[in-house]
Amino acid sequence: MQGMMMHRPLRISDILSYAAEVHPTGEIVSARTEGDIHRQTYPQTLSRVSQLAHALRARGIGMGDRVATLAWNGYRHFELYYAVSGIGAVCHTINPRLSAEQLIYIVNHAQDRMIFVDTTFVPILEAVKDHLPSDMTYVVMTDRAHMPENSLDALCYEELLDGQPTEMDWPEFPEDTAAGLCYTSGTTGNPKGALYTHRSTVLHALMIALVQGSVFEEGVKVLPVVPLFHVNAWGLPYSAPLIGLTLVMPGPALDGPSLFKLMDQEGVYSAWGVPTVWLGLLAEIKEKGRLPNGFGDVVVGGSAAPRSMIETFEKHGVNVGHAWGMTEMSPIGTHGNMPPDVQALPFDQMIDMKSKQGRRAFGVDLKIVDDDGNRLPHDGQAVGELYVRGNTIVSGYYHNDEATEKAMDAEGWFGTGDIASITPNGILSIQDRSKDLIKSGGEWISSIDLENAAMSHPAIASCAAIAMPHPKWDERPVLVAVAAGEERPGLEEMHAHMAEHFAKWQLPDDLVWVDDLPLTATGKVSKLTLRQQFADYTLPDLR
Ligand code: ADP
Repeated sequence: MQGMMMHRPLRISDILSYAAEVHPTGEIVSARTEGDIHRQTYPQTLSRVSQLAHALRARGIGMGDRVATLAWNGYRHFELYYAVSGIGAVCHTINPRLSAEQLIYIVNHAQDRMIFVDTTFVPILEAVKDHLPSDMTYVVMTDRAHMPENSLDALCYEELLDGQPTEMDWPEFPEDTAAGLCYTSGTTGNPKGALYTHRSTVLHALMIALVQGSVFEEGVKVLPVVPLFHVNAWGLPYSAPLIGLTLVMPGPALDGPSLFKLMDQEGVYSAWGVPTVWLGLLAEIKEKGRLPNGFGDVVVGGSAAPRSMIETFEKHGVNVGHAWGMTEMSPIGTHGNMPPDVQALPFDQMIDMKSKQGRRAFGVDLKIVDDDGNRLPHDGQAVGELYVRGNTIVSGYYHNDEATEKAMDAEGWFGTGDIASITPNGILSIQDRSKDLIKSGGEWISSIDLENAAMSHPAIASCAAIAMPHPKWDERPVLVAVAAGEERPGLEEMHAHMAEHFAKWQLPDDLVWVDDLPLTATGKVSKLTLRQQFADYTLPDLR
């Protein structure tokens, strides 16, 4: 029997209209590329989003057209998220840290019609424009006074909005209409596009709001360091307006001192980003001998949060939420709100629990399987390849059948490429990316576990464990480390430090000091590049 309830299509535009009405004092505070701090409320934002939507239509942008952004976190980028999708077009966020070759590939693959660009990234586009469609329209996201000299024949964002109506009758269309497009950074092969819908985006926003709403009161200030140009800033641009949170956008300055200053001035309570960003902030906290004013919560994800980092934050009284997700999952898969009894555990055990990758979010089904695709139990012990299913997860890649076929299993689940265990109450523990696991003598060693143990040594600022080829054992682990100060412990000292967590054969064969580790376009340690840098390396027992 069919139920008798209305069926209203889920629309992204409804999120901002709701926030403007119900949370009129919620703000978007932005550290601008112009160098100052800018503030606007949700109602003001809605007016400007309406103007931008009219302006886009006036330039012929309509249903399904791709409009790209190349920008930092700021209010204009946020406005593009809503204006573009609001009129049924597709907001394609481009990661400015991609190589020129990848950028050319994705703009052509997505067939973008317009690119909105921050002043800082204009040179990137100038360098590649001859390889982009010749009828492309470029818009620089600033006012006339700050327009840079450029060879793009670019329009000015503020002039585009000028004089446009501040109200919009947002169109209705089927909820499966495409709304956003984000390419994975493509550590292997070309980047692959995740094409989000209005339905997936609104459901994802509700799903996160369910978690955030239980811990953040209306008006709380949240700082997304995680970029709007990748993985939808973990969904914050959509969930924050629903709850009435104020978003503090950091703009281009993401170093520890700049973040500290902004958080301190604005009284940011919760800050979100990848572990590498927090290394900088923690160094500044140490330097200043205090936390930024009002800081009490940090959400870490994108790659494994080192145990030592979680410990340091918690010792300072900052609650750590450790989350896991993927571009292909909108991106949240798990969240860091642990069951209440975890916070009450003895400190070390609490940190152990928080080092895991959080609890399954509602609407995300998880399964782990063995090499033959057989399901493994969620008993916290069995380790297998992780698959996911749900309304906020891609059903395939945009115009890429080959990658789609590889990613989906026969039952329609999406393969994450991660190796994990799951507890009976839905707590996920990522052991490794399958391509980063180290296989020694037929047994697996988790690179994440090795890194966690090594990083708890005070002399190590950051490190990566990678596999090096070995004729007898297949692969052996090598630890590549960046020193925190002058001290450089030897391999034996590191073995002694790590011994209690590992069998002897699992410990690294060598310790190599480097000045810094290569990062991916999303700020994670790039083990692929690191392995390439070590192409001529020979293990000590083979020299
Ligand atoms: P890419 O970095 O390739 O662009 P994503 O940003 O979507 O792609 O990264 C997704 C991957 O990042 C996951 O499959 C997982 O390997 C890794 N990851 C994300 N969060 C965590 C976490 N908390 N712990 C360990 N790994 C994580």
